[in-house]
Amino acid sequence: LAENSIIEQGIPEHSVVTTCAYCGVGCAFRAEVKGNTVVRMTPWKDGAANEGHACVKGRFAWGYATHSDRITSPMVRDSIDEPWREVSWDEAVNFAAARFRRIQTQYGRNSVGAITSSRCTNEEVYLVQKLVRAGFGNNNVDTCARVCHSPTGYGLKTTLGESAGTQTFASVDHADVIVVIGSNPTEAHPVFGSRLKKRLREGGKLIVIDPRKIELVNAPHIHADYHLPVNPGCNVAVLNALAHVIVTEELHNTAFIASRCEDEAFAEWLLFISEQEHAPENLAEVTGIPAQDLRGAARLYAQAGNGAIYYGLGVTEHSQGSTAVMGIANLAMLTGNVGREGVGVNPMRGQNNVQGACDMGSFPHELPGYRHLSDASTRALFEDAWQVELDSEPGMRIPNMFDAAVDGQFRGLYCQGEDVAQSDPNTLHIEAALKGLDCLVVQDIFLNETAKYAHVFLPGSSFLEKDGTFINAERRISPVRKVMPPMAGKADWEATMAFANALGYPMNYTHPSEIMDEIARLTPTFRGVSYSKLDELGSIQWPCDDSAPEGTPTMHVDEFVRGRGHFAITEFVPTDERANRRFPLLLTTGRILSQYNVGAQTRRTENSTWHEEDVLEMHPHDAEERGVSQGDWLGIQSRAGDTVLRAQISERVKPGVVYTTFHHPLSGANVVTTDNSDWATNCPEYKVTAVQVTKVTEP
Ligand code: SF4
Repeated sequence: LAENSIIEQGIPEHSVVTTCAYCGVGCAFRAEVKGNTVVRMTPWKDGAANEGHACVKGRFAWGYATHSDRITSPMVRDSIDEPWREVSWDEAVNFAAARFRRIQTQYGRNSVGAITSSRCTNEEVYLVQKLVRAGFGNNNVDTCARVCHSPTGYGLKTTLGESAGTQTFASVDHADVIVVIGSNPTEAHPVFGSRLKKRLREGGKLIVIDPRKIELVNAPHIHADYHLPVNPGCNVAVLNALAHVIVTEELHNTAFIASRCEDEAFAEWLLFISEQEHAPENLAEVTGIPAQDLRGAARLYAQAGNGAIYYGLGVTEHSQGSTAVMGIANLAMLTGNVGREGVGVNPMRGQNNVQGACDMGSFPHELPGYRHLSDASTRALFEDAWQVELDSEPGMRIPNMFDAAVDGQFRGLYCQGEDVAQSDPNTLHIEAALKGLDCLVVQDIFLNETAKYAHVFLPGSSFLEKDGTFINAERRISPVRKVMPPMAGKADWEATMAFANALGYPMNYTHPSEIMDEIARLTPTFRGVSYSKLDELGSIQWPCDDSAPEGTPTMHVDEFVRGRGHFAITEFVPTDERANRRFPLLLTTGRILSQYNVGAQTRRTENSTWHEEDVLEMHPHDAEERGVSQGDWLGIQSRAGDTVLRAQISERVKPGVVYTTFHHPLSGANVVTTDNSDWATNCPEYKVTAVQVTKVTEP
């Protein structure tokens, strides 16, 4: 494809180093350009996250940026039943601003809000949360991390003191035993997945905790020492069983715990975890894992040397997502596997800028740098800089906004780069909420599913059309550099500024570097960050300040960010989504290598698998029981809704569990997912849905 592009477009004239806009690995590329057209993306050998490697998405799937579906003019309409009218930028933002002000006058200050996107740059996310706090006058701002890694923020902050992973990707080269739980790195984070496989081929040991046999379990020349096929919803029970074995067999690192962790919390936790109810023999049935495998895996992790844990949405997207994250941190502290290379707790962020979107303060309770709104001195700092009085009350989370919209209390939403109608759970509820809005402003590069319910469409800019920064899963701030002018005339940060100005809150940045300078002034962990330093160093891992002017590859080295590490009690509470007579199977979800999330970009880029449909994987035993053959159409029904998918009979899933991906709007995976959510953060429980599956005739 790349060579075809060069043949069609001609030899590139120059190149620009920038960062991939797909997953949380954050690979650096040279965009090779002729005129205003990219003719090839070449992985950059000096990229710290990828060292010259790339996957099929970053290398080939950038054609969406100039796809004919791009919308390049702002549009408005009075109601969602009317056709769109193309208008000027001024007319569009004035239309949106007038509606938002009218809504606030009629329904109160808290009746509007915004959702920011991990697809956008840090600078763009920062501006949206500033617009909400300073322009809307409330804290109703949330980010799509709410529906993926919000439990990481809560769990790691509670135990270690910082809402971020502890390591660099390169750290895996020094790991002796690697635990992969609820993550599928070779499909979802391919460049890191390859690095991990290299370490395994060199002799690293592997424990996979996943209901499904992911590729790592039986990859060529690799064999997982343990695959623990946990029943969906039972991660906390497994983590407790592992910790119980380590404690009761006295394999824990007493010196590390004594010198680095809170005594009282550890003593309390020790009593809890020593209880016989956490013994593998007592949890084998509920977890679906033989006791000897739980014991063997615990001994391996505790005794093999450097132990590193990598986890993903298979941990966070549960009703106990935050508890599981704390259970992972407990294990790392228990064995002294924190604070040096080759160890640590590593959340694999799905989208390119999940970490950054969280860092930038787009949570309803936190200002940039994870500082709670209730802190008067933090509020005073921002009030002084922004020249406004801030509301000290936390705003609404995304699910609260949708619930309030259904109830008629929430009437205006500014949705930046996030297709909530496809990606959020319980689609029918989301659609009802969106239909209830008096003004929905969608900012996106395509007319996505959410835009069907919008009154204002602000055309977005792709990663090739703007300057800015992304932050990957290892806290690495990397430059995004403009390769071609914005197709709609404005980059997203300029569109947000125009909306703010139309609302009467002035914003006058001339370049995203000025926004980063403001972030650095107001956020201690970013104090030493600037565009000139990024140009000089290539990338920087935060915290970056006077004591770490070139950034921090490994966190919590001598002490935890919170001081002493906190062992959290992790009581296992079974999810409400349990198999029963009416819904006897458990549905879980994931991704494939060649597609990306809702597929808005990858489905608009030619590659050999772009047309692949979402299918339902089912174990041969369950298929036989239902008379299902390969390729049959299946009806999937949950208490939230129903959809239809083709059968793929596979031993990758265990009996009683079915699995699908969510890359195509018509497959409707989220029509069946429910609004069950994490107790601490409301992250939806995408990974467990009780369903019935029946053979149906063609839809
Ligand atoms: Fe892009 Fe992720 Fe692939 Fe790297 S691994 S090229 S960041 S999609």
